[in-house]
Amino acid sequence: MTGHGGAVAALETVRAKIAAAAREAKREPAAVTLVAVSKTFEAEAIRPVLQAGQRVFGENRVQEAKGKWPALRAEFPDVVLHLIGPLQSNKAAEAVALFDAIETIDRPKIAQAVAAEMAKQGKKLALYVQVNTGEEPQKAGVAPKEAVAFVRWCRDAVGLEIAGLMCIPPAEDMPAPHFAFLRTLAGEAGVAGLSMGMSADYECAVSLGATCVRVGSAIFGGR
Ligand SMILES: *Cc1c(COP(=O)(O)O)cnc(C)c1O
Repeated sequence: MTGHGGAVAALETVRAKIAAAAREAKREPAAVTLVAVSKTFEAEAIRPVLQAGQRVFGENRVQEAKGKWPALRAEFPDVVLHLIGPLQSNKAAEAVALFDAIETIDRPKIAQAVAAEMAKQGKKLALYVQVNTGEEPQKAGVAPKEAVAFVRWCRDAVGLEIAGLMCIPPAEDMPAPHFAFLRTLAGEAGVAGLSMGMSADYECAVSLGATCVRVGSAIFGGR
């Protein structure tokens, strides 16, 4: 595990690699948002990364995020929090209250629950539809062949603005074809955001158009 000082140095390295991959692809480095995935790490491991200027973080569990982020937010009010793990509809109220973005909209019931909570709380989150590009039975996300229709349904039937698509390629696959596929689907669905790329493959994702990369262990160390 990387020590706390290690996380700050690692953050700088990740930022530099994102910028280099963006320039290589003739993209603006600022067009890529680094989501620092802090799941399983305690507040004292996260604070140095906040002090180093990182503001966008990802958590995969509502309950865990609720335990540590309200206090960190009091110290750093401009934090932007992304939910990157599966959401149950009975947690929609808590998720909408706590997060600024939900990357894992993947079924009608969740879309409706999130829409109802955003209306109730008067809060607008950035929403991404998760696509199961590898069609893995154990993995969350809409099937690729349903993705475009689901985005349209979210817009037209539920009135939800969808910011983009998100994917987690199968661990055993080369990621590039999944990233390219997600970009194609986003084009068909008419959404601009592409949340793709993790510690092992974020540079590849940036070269294929990622607007958000979700990087955990390369910053915070092993979990
Ligand atoms: C944990 C997680 C990440 C970060 O993974 P690393 O390999 O540690 O960078 C990214 N996305 C999702 C959805 C995750 O659950």
